[in-house]
Amino acid sequence: MAFYRITWNEKYDFATLHNWGCTFRCPYCSYKLRSGADGRPGFAEPKPAQFLTVDEQKECLRRIRPGKIYFMGGEPTVAKELDEMVAFAKLELGSETRLGHTNGSRLAVPHLDSANVGFKAWSEDLHWQITGRPKSLIYDNFSRAFDSGMQLAANMVFIPGLVGLDEMEGLLRYLSSMDRGIPFHIDGYIPIPGQPWQRPTDDEMAAAYQLAASYLDQVKFSHLTQQQALDLSARDDRFKVQIVAGV
Ligand code: SF4
Repeated sequence: MAFYRITWNEKYDFATLHNWGCTFRCPYCSYKLRSGADGRPGFAEPKPAQFLTVDEQKECLRRIRPGKIYFMGGEPTVAKELDEMVAFAKLELGSETRLGHTNGSRLAVPHLDSANVGFKAWSEDLHWQITGRPKSLIYDNFSRAFDSGMQLAANMVFIPGLVGLDEMEGLLRYLSSMDRGIPFHIDGYIPIPGQPWQRPTDDEMAAAYQLAASYLDQVKFSHLTQQQALDLSARDDRFKVQIVAGV
């Protein structure tokens, strides 16, 4: 697993390195929106025809010199060159370094400034059911990263009937016990073909927001349709990017 594409948003001065692959097997993985659901759980983005070499990645980033460099895609910490590229971004380019989205499997990355962690569930059983991995792996990593001073944000996909308010409240209690100021984003579930759950209603989203805001001070949410999720750049120009390396 490795980075296969670099995108650049000149206006907001950030580049993103995109990894292919993930260690979890969430049935509602949003990568299936583009790739098409095949009934199997987990990451389902087709494998890229080719990957970037480390030299190609560095050459591209030296050319554009972004102020912020994000690492994303499936689960970015499974990219074998991640540590080298984070160190390069921080030490040679002086850029801010961030895991733009991570499942939290590995946060102790040297020279990493910040991470946005997607929590899947609060209950141990449901965490196993969704991810195939133990809950403690993620929560312990998050606590250690918080104690180390890393800037952290958190999010959770709200799926009435699977990951409901009770699951979210457990997570919120955990986060607020560390710091009420941790930014938290509620992702309203975007229906994935072949999966049984429904998109939350407006009332359900409002209830989730109210619950989160009673624990944390910085709460946002998204409540996208499938079509909106497939064209994020139409709603937010941070998604208007150009491919500067790779496929
Ligand atoms: S952790 Fe994210 S990328 Fe990986 S399977 Fe789950 S939703 Fe998909």
